[in-house]
Amino acid sequence: MPSPQFDNSYARMSPVFFSRLAPTPVSEPSLIRLNRPLAQALGMDAEWLASPAGISMLAGNSLPDSADPIATVYAGHQFGSYNPQLGDGRALLLGELVSPTGQRYDLQLKGSGPTPYSRGGDGRSPLGPVIREYIVSEAMAALGVPTTRALAAISTPDSVVRESLLPGAVFTRVASSHLRIGTVQFFAAQGNKEALEALVAYTLQRHYPEQSEAAVPALALLEQVIDRQAALVARWQQLGFIHGVMNTDNMLLCGETVDYGPCAFMDGYHPETVFSSIDHGGRYAYGNQPGIAHWNLAALAQALLPLIDPEPEQAAKLAQAAVDRFPVRFLAAHRDGLRQKLGLREWHEDDENLAADLLALLAQERSDFTLFFRRLAELAGPAPEGVADIFAMPDHLQDWLERWRTRLASDGGDEVERQQAMYRVNPAFIPRNHQVQRAIAAASDDSNFAPFHALVERLAEPWRFDPDDSDYALPPQPEEVVHRTFCGT
Ligand code: AMP
Ligand code: MG
Repeated sequence: MPSPQFDNSYARMSPVFFSRLAPTPVSEPSLIRLNRPLAQALGMDAEWLASPAGISMLAGNSLPDSADPIATVYAGHQFGSYNPQLGDGRALLLGELVSPTGQRYDLQLKGSGPTPYSRGGDGRSPLGPVIREYIVSEAMAALGVPTTRALAAISTPDSVVRESLLPGAVFTRVASSHLRIGTVQFFAAQGNKEALEALVAYTLQRHYPEQSEAAVPALALLEQVIDRQAALVARWQQLGFIHGVMNTDNMLLCGETVDYGPCAFMDGYHPETVFSSIDHGGRYAYGNQPGIAHWNLAALAQALLPLIDPEPEQAAKLAQAAVDRFPVRFLAAHRDGLRQKLGLREWHEDDENLAADLLALLAQERSDFTLFFRRLAELAGPAPEGVADIFAMPDHLQDWLERWRTRLASDGGDEVERQQAMYRVNPAFIPRNHQVQRAIAAASDDSNFAPFHALVERLAEPWRFDPDDSDYALPPQPEEVVHRTFCGT
């Protein structure tokens, strides 16, 4: 059984980018869950990963010779204020793997002990956040959203001290890379132009190789990141996903969703929806996400200025033009998403009102965002699935539905095809917050992982409604509603 062969390109960079250190072992690690399909896609031996040697690696207790663990340094704007010194405070990059299809991935342990960037923290992770990240990141992947992935969750009897003693866990995260806007900001703030240039070249080579010969590499990188983030946030909006902590250190240059701390999917639609216990002003509310992404990308542009042009005015002009792409790209992606959600083949100017009026009506009674669109798909063609049994179309939407039907008639096309297309973009199953909370509570309070496993498995197929699983599709009962989510750090 072969252990993984890491190839560590970031660890070969200048030591200004990281600190080299080994994970701190945990006692009696046991495997909660291994993502076998992901292991296979990475070219890893799932049998080895599930063996004592594999579990030992996933716990950070022993490492293959090819691993070269490092904690990476970064900075970031947290809730709008700049923090010059962040970094992997409870995470370690074990190494990089090149998959059988030639894609390079980071394998990172979370909860693997303190690092030089822990700022007094213990570098550990309680079980709850590990369960949440596993469920939600894998659900996002199944929903087709660019995201970091969950390879494994390990439990240990070593408890983690927070307000109370909590069971501990180690999570293995897979990402195309963990390079962040905050990574660029760190070297910009230091005025380390050499490091900044090396970082830009590295990121282009790794994520945007077709741009690596660009005349102005920093500008090319900025534009690529802007395009990826515009597409990403549009996907979030279409699914009702609320990230919760869109700090610049939580936005990846590769365009994958990262940091499933206080995130949640919205049940009832309202643009002001916030879950995070630390987001007092509602800065990262659902409806603010596009604007915040735009703001974060302006921070990236700012950090890259010295590389864009030696003449500050020219640099600012070029950077501004790039940043101005964001609203245009976002709106195009968002509109296209709405078009598909509504079952339209073409988007006409009037559809802007059709969509806006719908969202206002949904917000009025906080109608369930996911089930509304799934029911709409059911109404669009001849193949019902039984969604009507769990979701009654609200009365105040009847006039709007008439308008929509008239619009569908003018859009033309085959209704069977339209319905199937709508079923493919309007999921039946999302990680409902009360279900996630239930899985966390069972795992943390009773060491019962059955609800966690069942939820992960159900969410692997979000596009196919099954009335037998309607419990998973239902919004929370009033007493089940989760009002606040926690980072759990
Ligand atoms: P996050 O909220 O996950 O984006 O983390 C913000 C910063 O706090 C990062 O630099 C983390 O590495 C650090 N951090 C969070 N939790 C811990 C912890 N338990 N121990 C050490 N550092 C932490
Ligand atoms: Mg983070």
